[in-house]
Formats: sequence, structure tokens, C-alpha cells
Amino acid sequence: MADWEVIIGLEIHAELLTESKVFCGCNTEFGGEPNSQVCPVCMGLPGALPVLNRQAVELAIKAGLALNCTINGTSQFDRKHYFYPDLPKAYQISQNDRPLCSHGMVELSVGDRKRQIGIQRVHLEEEAGKSVHVGDSIISSEYSLLDYNRSGIALVEIVTEPDIRSAEEARLFLEKLKTLLEYTEVSDCKMEEGSLRCDANISLRPKGSSAYGVKTEIKNLNSFRAVQRALEFEADRQRRLLQAKEVVLPETRHWDEAKGMTFSMRSKAKAADYRYMPDPNLYPLQVDEAWIESIRQNLPELPDAKRDRFINDYDLPPYDADVLTTSRHLADYFEACVQEVDEPKLVSNWVMGEVLRWLKAHELEIESSPVAPKELGGLLKLIQEDVVSTIVAKDVLSEMFATGKSAVEIVDEKGWRQISDADSLEAIIDGVIAENPGPVADFQKGKTKAIGFLVGQVMKASKGQANPQKANEMLRQKLQK
Ligand SMILES: [Zn+2]
Repeated sequence: MADWEVIIGLEIHAELLTESKVFCGCNTEFGGEPNSQVCPVCMGLPGALPVLNRQAVELAIKAGLALNCTINGTSQFDRKHYFYPDLPKAYQISQNDRPLCSHGMVELSVGDRKRQIGIQRVHLEEEAGKSVHVGDSIISSEYSLLDYNRSGIALVEIVTEPDIRSAEEARLFLEKLKTLLEYTEVSDCKMEEGSLRCDANISLRPKGSSAYGVKTEIKNLNSFRAVQRALEFEADRQRRLLQAKEVVLPETRHWDEAKGMTFSMRSKAKAADYRYMPDPNLYPLQVDEAWIESIRQNLPELPDAKRDRFINDYDLPPYDADVLTTSRHLADYFEACVQEVDEPKLVSNWVMGEVLRWLKAHELEIESSPVAPKELGGLLKLIQEDVVSTIVAKDVLSEMFATGKSAVEIVDEKGWRQISDADSLEAIIDGVIAENPGPVADFQKGKTKAIGFLVGQVMKASKGQANPQKANEMLRQKLQK
């Protein structure tokens, strides 16, 4: 890609965590019987009038603040017209030229570099219903079913500036955005349930040029990985066209995950096609400074601030702080555990290592970990007090996950207390020395590395229960005599 610069902008839709829909009182819970959570407003029946949900506005403002946006005192709801069976009014209530939030910015770490991605706008709108195409795909389907439970759920649309310069940056941006929306409890960001969706615009231009090339829009991106793969594919496709002096058509393209390709869907709609007009049933939305300020005051500590605090207060390496603050629950888990064991780096190693590994293998999130922070703290204290070695502690943790018992219970039941007393260790060490004359001779000739092997043998002979530091000391004393 040496001669071409990739320009990417993203449009993200995130469902807001409100209990009722944005313009009616219907329930928003996911997974209900089709068309069981509907009323005349969200079914678009003639004469039904929308009433704005205050909580939806509050969450949209929260999102705007977390993305460093200006919150506009007056914004406007507009009708965006298009015809599709899952849109019963034949228009979506959205915001066009006067959005609720604008001019924001998100900072990303891309390798060692910091990148600032502009946020053009965050606006409030309503969800459409859901079409269920019977059969394999929309094209071969004989008929489609419609479920309006989702119709009218509150959404924010977040539009970035075309500041993203690679497929990887696009993925990193989405990860950061998800973290911010989860921290602020604006959205649960479940891509698999459709509560976070992303469309991507991409174009190429010769390096050094300031004019934009023709862009395509990619839809059907169902995971962060899909976003990165689709953008890599599309950048490559456009580059080949441009290098062959062919044209890139302005079109909407569909990402096919299985084939790993994008396909042309339709030529791109222009804003004029939507015939935007102010919705006469809704007043301009006024939000006063005092309300915005009270929301700002009640924002939780955001990931960047938390990361910096973890580095400063706990003396953690930046890598650890990054990993631990990717989710608010993970950060809380870490801090709760540090309350128990005042050795942050030890806690961080175990949380990032054994705990996350086990959770990942069992497809669980940290908030549903069977081992609570207090319990993990109990195990780490046993390491600090030399009751168990690190090796044995890993087995103890596996047992804790499996049985829900405490570390102390397991260690006592299994007889896994570390052997630190000299008499017991001495018997094992004498055995190892007798069985390994070669390495013993090596050590005595000055090959100090041989000690590592001998300590390993002691650990093996004691089934991991010997205290490795003690074993090392005692071995050296004996061999140097
Ligand atoms: Zn309704």
C-alpha cells in the first residue's frame, strides 16, 4: 500500500440501555416473543403520537460527554424517509442538521503512537424493526417475517470524522468506543445481539494528496474482527482498481464473512433521497446547562483516567494498566483484590494470567467469575506467606474454579502446604543429589546453571510442594561443602 493512503470513517449505532423505547412506553428487553412488545406508536399507526424518553436523552448526553463532544443546547428531530417493511411509518425519527452532540474526539494508542480520531456527531434516533428472511439469505428467501419488538428502541448514531488510516485503527477505535459506552453504562454493546453495529466508509487517495477519493460503504459487519477483515479486503480491492486505472464506484457493499469478500449491494443513497424534514410532532429538544453539568459530575472515572491512576497508584506497567482497564468490571475486580492483598503487581499477574485464561476458556466474563476477588485474594495471601508455591497455587485456583471452595480449604484437604521445614526438604534434596551425580559434578566444576536443573528435580520429587527458594539455598550449601 506504499503509494496510497487509506481513509476510513465509521458510523456506529448503539442501542441505549433504557427500559422503555424512545418515543413510547414499550419494554425493550431482548428476546421476547415476536411482536409482543409493541403499541400504536412503535407500530406507526396513524394518529399515534411520540413522547420523548428523558432517560434516552440523558444516556445520549453521557455518550457525548464520554466522547468529548459539545452538547448542543437545542437540537432537532427529523423524519428520515425510506421504504422498507421493518420501518412501519416509512420514516425513521432521527436528527439531521441539528444533532444533540458534535465535535468530539477519542484518543487511541496505536502501538507507541497516540492518534486522535474526531467525532463528527452523536445523535439520537429510533431503531427499525427486524426482518427475518426465511431460508439461507435475503436473495434466495421465499418470504420474510417481521418483528417490531425492536422498532422504536432508543439508539445513538456515532459518526467519526474520516480520520482513521488503517483497518487496524478502525478495530482499535471500536474497542475503545465499546469500553467507553460500557463504562458509562450507555449501552451493553452486544454485537451478537445487534445492540452495537458498525458501518464503515472507505476510500483511497494518492499519498500526499488532500482531496478525497470515491468512497464505498460496507455493511453487515458483525464483529470487530469482521470490521478489520472487511476493511483490509476493501482497501486492497480499491487499490487494485486504482492501480489498473479503473474507477471505484460509490456504492454500498455487503461483507460476506464466510467468503471473506465484499459484494456490491446498491448504489449509495444521497442525503436528498431521504427527504429529511423536521418532525412536526416533536418540539426542538432543549437541554439546559445545569442538566448537562449534573450528568458530567456523575460520570464514572473513564478508562484513560483509570489507566493513568493504575500506573501511578499501583506502580503497574502500562501494559497491565491497559489490559485491566479494558472493562470497568475487570478494573473493579482488580481493585477489590488489591484491597485484600497489598501487592498490586502480584494481583495483576494473576488476574491477567490465570483468571482471564480460565474465563476465556469457559466463555465467561469477569463479572460472572466463580472466584470472587476476595477468594483470589485468599489464595495470593497463601503465596505471600509461603504456604503454597506459585506452581501449586495454579492447581489450587483450578480447584477453586471447579468447586467454589476457598484456597485454604483446598490446600488443607489436598495436603498441598509447601514444604519449607529443613528436615523434610533435606531428605528430598539428599535423594536428588544421589540420583544426579552428573549435574552435581557440573555445578561443583563451576557450571552454576546446573543448580536450576537440580532445583527442578527437587520440585518434581516433591510434586511441586517444596519451597523453591529454600531448596535452592539448601542445595547450594550442601554442594559447596
Ligand atoms: Zn411502543
